[in-house]
Amino acid sequence: MLLVRQAELNAELNAARDVRCRNGKIIEIGTGLQSDPGERVIEARGGALLPGLHDHHIHLIALAAARQSVHCGPPTVNNLESLTTVLREVKGSGWIRGVGYHESVAGMLHRTQLDDLVSNRPVRIQHRSGKLWFVNSRAAQLLQLDQHRSLQGIECDASDAPTGRLFRMDQWLREQLADAVIPDIKSASRLLAGFGVTGITDATAANSSATQDQYLKWIENGDLLQRVLLMGDESMAQMHQNLIQSGALKIMLDDYALPDFEDLKQHIVNAHQQQRCVAIHCVTAVELVFALSVLNEAGAQSGDRIEHASVTPDDTIPLIRATGITIVTQPNFIAERGDQYAEDIESTEHHHLYRCKTFLESGIPLGGGTDAPFGSPDPWRAMSAAVNRKTLSGKLLGELERLSPEQALHLFTTAAANPGAAARTITVGSTADLCLLDRPWHEARLRLQHEDVTATIRAGEVIYQR
Ligand SMILES: [Zn+2]
Repeated sequence: MLLVRQAELNAELNAARDVRCRNGKIIEIGTGLQSDPGERVIEARGGALLPGLHDHHIHLIALAAARQSVHCGPPTVNNLESLTTVLREVKGSGWIRGVGYHESVAGMLHRTQLDDLVSNRPVRIQHRSGKLWFVNSRAAQLLQLDQHRSLQGIECDASDAPTGRLFRMDQWLREQLADAVIPDIKSASRLLAGFGVTGITDATAANSSATQDQYLKWIENGDLLQRVLLMGDESMAQMHQNLIQSGALKIMLDDYALPDFEDLKQHIVNAHQQQRCVAIHCVTAVELVFALSVLNEAGAQSGDRIEHASVTPDDTIPLIRATGITIVTQPNFIAERGDQYAEDIESTEHHHLYRCKTFLESGIPLGGGTDAPFGSPDPWRAMSAAVNRKTLSGKLLGELERLSPEQALHLFTTAAANPGAAARTITVGSTADLCLLDRPWHEARLRLQHEDVTATIRAGEVIYQR
């Protein structure tokens, strides 16, 4: 039982409204509503009431783990010296987990090079792309890399010794480290609630039926406050409960090791036959073109998605449109990684990066995610980056791809299963997932800051209040 009083529901409508929620739904909207006995009341004082934000691409378990990790890359760590300092400053004993590494810091790290930095504790550092881990010798020993040398993904040198570089070994690492890592889901979920996030799509490819069970427990015991759409592998069961649903089959592509065309096509056809959509990870133009060709042959289904579309050349736009697929983008990377992109990529191609406006103008459904922990988990930063397209150092990247604040908000206010469709509405009968700001939208739109969120409501329950 909740009554939000004097909220701005529609920026054009110049009058505040009261909104009553019960049993997870909005049951009444009006003016001058009186509170019922025992009903919780939030005074909005003219603040904008928005649909609760949905992050359409995030990795929650990794986010929780990253919050217990040390950041090892730009913009805070830029050379070997500062990498050494941050690693040696980690208190305690046992594993040191680093994240956000980029080779601009000290090249592709090697096991023995890491030993020079820290040798008495096991260290593992994740490349910010998420596809590669670097470990020191102590870690290599604990993980028994020598015994597992034959596994594809464990890189070995000419003398067949592990280099300490592990490619796409997340699932295996998770299994090896099962007891050593207990991520704090509760605090990560509360962090998101503070941003106004009422729903997430966990886009982790390694999510399995075991992950589904884990998520159910977290929802039941109250650790997880958001509703969840869970992507993952083939082992996941179809699930359509109130707070948790199963989502697309996640397919990873690496342009240096693309799968067999026919195999992937069959994989997609099989998923579709089981009424399951696919979500294909594409961060390079090669991956995107490959994915589009396979989807074209397999037959795309409504709900199929391309994750990231980090680089979208002009001539792929009509192909994307023709397949009818949805794009889920992360404009926050323009802000967070833009300076690196500006260095690595020709200026004539800057507008290919995390495009937004072109997709919308071409009628391609576009949703937004943060890709946390690879990006910042704050969706307001992503919205702001979609509007400003400014890098940390202030460079403008792909000006023509800028969105209006309303278009940026829309990236995060559509239904979980339909990124890019119409935004969820605040009407009688709709689900009471809401985000209340402390000021009207005409002010908030110029700031797009999470600091303006004053309350977050999921299924009629207040999950955050400032
Ligand atoms: Zn991701």
